[in-house]
Formats: sequence, C-alpha cells, structure tokens
Amino acid sequence: MDQVFDTIIVGAGAAGLTAGIYASRAKLSTLILNEGAVGGQMVLTEEIANYPGVETTKGYMLANTMKMQAKSFGCKIKSNIKISRYSFENEIKEIELADGSVFKSKSVILTPGGRPRSLNIAGEDQFKGTGVSYCATCDGDFFTGKEVVVVGGGNSALEEAVALTNYATKVTIVHQFDHFQAFEHAIEEAKKNPKIEFIMESELRGFYGNGHLEKVTIEHLPTAKISELKTDGTFIFIGYQPNTESLQGLVQLNNRNEIVVDSVMKTNVDGVFAAGDCINKRYRQVTTAVADGTIAALSVSEYLRN
Ligand SMILES: Cc1cc2nc3c(=O)[nH]c(=O)nc-3n(C[C@H](O)[C@H](O)[C@H](O)COP(=O)(O)OP(=O)(O)OC[C@H]3O[C@@H](n4cnc5c(N)ncnc54)[C@H](O)[C@@H]3O)c2cc1C
Repeated sequence: MDQVFDTIIVGAGAAGLTAGIYASRAKLSTLILNEGAVGGQMVLTEEIANYPGVETTKGYMLANTMKMQAKSFGCKIKSNIKISRYSFENEIKEIELADGSVFKSKSVILTPGGRPRSLNIAGEDQFKGTGVSYCATCDGDFFTGKEVVVVGGGNSALEEAVALTNYATKVTIVHQFDHFQAFEHAIEEAKKNPKIEFIMESELRGFYGNGHLEKVTIEHLPTAKISELKTDGTFIFIGYQPNTESLQGLVQLNNRNEIVVDSVMKTNVDGVFAAGDCINKRYRQVTTAVADGTIAALSVSEYLRN
C-alpha cells in the first residue's frame, strides 16, 4: 500500500465510526481498521433507549447507520482484520496486518474500546441480554418492578445497586469479601436503602432459567454451602478491561491499562490520539464515545493543519 492516509482509526465502535464521520467529512483521507464486526459494543446491545434524538433503536441498527454515514463521506472501513504491528515513532505511522499488508498514515486515532470483566461461570454467556447485564444505565429500566442481583463490592457495584432501586423492587448485592472496597459514602448510601439486601463472603456459581434468567446459585465461601436465589436479572460490576493489551509500551497507559489522553484526546505520542471506552475516564456510554471520537477527529484536523 503506497497511499499515505491522513488518518487511520483503529476500531469501528461508536468512537471510531464517529471519528471516521468527522475526519472524512473534513476531507481527510481516512481508513478504519477493525478487528471483528463493525459496531463494537453497540451490536451487543439489544436495545439502546438513551441515545439522544433516537427514541429507541436496536444496537446493530445504530451501528449500521453510523457506518453508512462514515462511508457516505468517503471513509474506508476494513473489518475482520488482525493488527500484528504498530510503528508510531516516525512522522509517518505504520500499521501492519497479520496478512502482511502495511498501511501508512500521518496520524492515528486509537478506539479499540473495551469489555466488562465477566465472571466466567455457567450460563453467563447464555443469559447475556436476557437477564445478565453489565450496565445499569443501559438495562435497569428493563427490570422495573422486578428483583435483581448485583455482583461486586467496589464503588461501581454499590452506586449502580442504589441506581437500580429506582427500577427494581429488591436488589441483592452478592460480594466475595466480608467488607466492601468502596468509598464510605457509597457504602452508607447502599446500607441505608431499604430495597437493598447483602449476601457477603459469597460468589455466584451459575445462572439458570428457561429462555430468560430465573435463578442463580451462590456459594457461601467460608462453609462451601450452595444456595439458590430466584432473580429476574443479574448485574455484574467486577471491573472493566480496555482492549489495550497490544498497545503496551507504544502509548502511555495508566494502572488500569486505559490510554492516557488530555482534554483534546492527545496521547503522549505525537500524532497519536485515542477516544472512547479505552481512555482514562469514568463514564462509558455511546454518547461519551461519540463525543470523544468527535474531539479526536477535530484534534487530528488541527494537528495536520499545523
Ligand atoms: C451489553 C452492553 C449494553 C450497553 N448498553 C448501552 C446503552 O444502552 N446505552 C449506552 O449509551 N451505552 C451502552 N453500553 C456502553 C456502550 O456500548 C459503549 O460505551 C460504547 O459503545 C463504546 O464505544 P467504543 O467505540 O469506545 O468501543 P467499542 O464499542 O468497544 O468498539 C471498539 C471496536 O474496536 C475493535 N477493536 C478492539 N481491539 C482492536 C484492535 N487491536 N484492532 C482493531 N480493532 C480493534 C472492537 O472489535 C470493536 O469493534 C453498553 C455496553 C454493553 C457491553
């Protein structure tokens, strides 16, 4: 490939596709390289009801609209690829694919997203989207008037458990230790909520149901006793994993392996920007990924002008 693109975007989720829309509309020659299917986590989401301007939509439909929009401005998208090498040291950056092809560009926007940590127990994959969730903001409303379980003992788990009481009639927090690893105010808030119950020193062992989640099994760790708990939904908040394993040593990552960026999405490497769920930030939503992608593309335009 002799062409030197103005920018190459790594990842075609909400952040990458938005960066693609803005960059190609600004007449920058733009290529998106994406591992797997286009759309990222959006296509894992059955229904997105909180994207402004779109009352409610299927995740794959929103992803497809973003893809078509990027392509209509001339953005090129290569999906189902595997990147084997990045070279960011020189002014012209290089990205090599597993099939040996090399793509060159004047700038790079990293948008590889991430994935919630999973429990890796029986039934978890089977009930993803029909009872097992990793996002209270996204799915809480589906459990209005129902009973749910929250797994975890950090700030996210306790804060999201409190948020879920706006929908659910009962929230049972299951945590592996006898104490929480959250801020005191978050613990107090959860403890004083009459809808929240606690099962401590316990871990989930499996999810069961017929078509949708009906119950979980829980092991009480000190006694190894297994019990069953009827539930309509389970929310898992045991951490988040950015897809940055292959970027170790290339750009600055923090202790949670998130890419460190400044307010205009610049990384510590000249000409390399990052956006979306992979960066150092607190809230991960389609709207925040779209905002980051916009800023990254505008920053690339300015970088290339200068
Ligand atoms: C089950 C679920 C439900 C959700 N529901 C909602 C909701 O209702 N509303 C909402 O606002 N948010 C929701 N979210 C969160 C939202 O989907 C994400 O915050 C957002 O989509 C992140 O976009 P992103 O582009 O940063 O990353 P991602 O969507 O993760 O996209 C990253 C893309 O990069 C690709 N990639 C990764 N590594 C590489 C690599 N090395 N090379 C090339 N490509 C790579 C991935 O395959 C993927 O296609 C939900 C998340 C989940 C998991």
